[in-house]
Amino acid sequence: MEVVKIVDLCKSYGTGEMKVDAVKNINFTINKGEFIAVVGPSGSGKSTLLHLLGGVDIPTSGKVYVDGIDIFGLSEKELAVFRRRKVGFIFQFYNLIPVLTAEENILLPLLLDNKKIDKKYINELISILGLEDRRGHLPSELSGGQQQRVSIGRALAYSPSIVLADEPTGNLDSENSKEIVDLLKLSVKKYNQTLVLITHDLDIASQADRIITIEDGSITKNEVLYNGKL
Ligand code: ADP
Ligand code: ADP
Repeated sequence: MEVVKIVDLCKSYGTGEMKVDAVKNINFTINKGEFIAVVGPSGSGKSTLLHLLGGVDIPTSGKVYVDGIDIFGLSEKELAVFRRRKVGFIFQFYNLIPVLTAEENILLPLLLDNKKIDKKYINELISILGLEDRRGHLPSELSGGQQQRVSIGRALAYSPSIVLADEPTGNLDSENSKEIVDLLKLSVKKYNQTLVLITHDLDIASQADRIITIEDGSITKNEVLYNGKL
């Protein structure tokens, strides 16, 4: 089943001499539960594409459909709701709130929305992430790997359809990176969520179901992997 459809997507920044075509006429679809790795040189448009997918950046032209909804056809208010409920973002720098505990950071998207907390789901998530004994810790009391696990928890708290991760292991050593990607894979597969992950690490990319290569704003390769092999 198709969860994301991207049609003739373009994004330019600036005008005239300063104009940069960051994303050029991109088309592709993503199936439910799929794990896609996005690779490519620095400045090739990977983050821009991810931001467009998550509705945090507006395209110059083209469309993004998520669960059949034309997200840029939504009102600003509806788009904000879409971002909060349907998309989970994970960044290289964890962007945790320093004065909130691990558990409060995880629950934050739900608290901001006055949403009833599904304790069973949240407890299961905290347990998958191995954070049971870290619930009450502040981010400053956690290791880098633990902080990233909290930010995964926050991204998954709403049980989003798509999880978007921009270099989530860029700040971690290789052992922690492997653990984080294993956990991400485990959680998204368990809940049949779709994962789109930008990485420079080919070991990590090789764990995906599909690798998309972006060069100079265009998709130059779209390769399905079978058990980590092309
Ligand atoms: P990547 O994630 O592959 O490193 P980006 O999507 O960040 O690439 O950037 C693609 C191009 O768009 C680059 O040339 C970058 O400088 C430019 N760009 C990205 N964001 C902005 C912005 N907010 N304003 C102007 N140019 C931008
Ligand atoms: P890892 O190897 O998992 O990244 P660290 O070696 O950074 O972990 O930390 C080991 C343990 O010490 C972790 O369980 C973490 O909770 C704790 N810890 C790390 N930094 C701090 C800190 N600034 N204050 C309190 N506890 C910390």
